[in-house]
Amino acid sequence: MSQEEDLDVLDLLFSFTSDTDLTHASYNIGVFLCSTCASIHATIGTHISKVKHLNFDHWEESQVERLKQVGNAAAKQKYEQRVPNWLQRPRE
Ligand SMILES: [Zn+2]
Repeated sequence: MSQEEDLDVLDLLFSFTSDTDLTHASYNIGVFLCSTCASIHATIGTHISKVKHLNFDHWEESQVERLKQVGNAAAKQKYEQRVPNWLQRPRE
């Protein structure tokens, strides 16, 4: 196993950003979330976004892998592609 594969979800977060507001992640979409966005994602439902706390939930290797593969920058590009300019975008 390479050193990179040993990264757990928190190491992965800190490899991307030092933003300590990010406390959750959606493991099917592959993005890190702050607690405000995490509750919005939870309201939408688990058929759209599956949210876990970075510290308090157990993370499967494949879920960490998904976050590693997608990440906030790539997800932003994909999902905000058709968002009109006048609409407020999420900060992260
Ligand atoms: Zn947020």
